[in-house]
Amino acid sequence: MSENAIVVVELSTTPTEVPERIAAAKKWLLENGIITPNAQRDELMQPSEHRAGPRAIEVAPPFAHEHIRRLVNNGVDFVCERQVHHPIENYEPPHCPSCGVRADADAHSQLIEPWFENEEPVLACQACGEVH
Ligand SMILES: [Zn+2]
Repeated sequence: MSENAIVVVELSTTPTEVPERIAAAKKWLLENGIITPNAQRDELMQPSEHRAGPRAIEVAPPFAHEHIRRLVNNGVDFVCERQVHHPIENYEPPHCPSCGVRADADAHSQLIEPWFENEEPVLACQACGEVH
């Protein structure tokens, strides 16, 4: 059990479309009151560019709780680069889409660094040999 949660939103698009998609998403969220600019931005306590807006509760019901709204590190940022989110204890490698066997965790982890260099990862299933 944790007091922390990170919501990762993935927008699958081509690298050249990313800046436009991010700008459009940010504009829509601001115009609809889902987020608002962080007027008290602070590198240590409130590092995010945006905070929950007046209508955030409609898309993120936990913001109905006062203690959630007051947390200093619950901001919204837009990231236009490849990043890895590690869920620590909740991590599990993906399952093979062909046979359902879980991939080897070490083999899965070794795919991350080349992915940062814009290589699309390829992993052969240790059970059925299918390459994904
Ligand atoms: Zn397989």
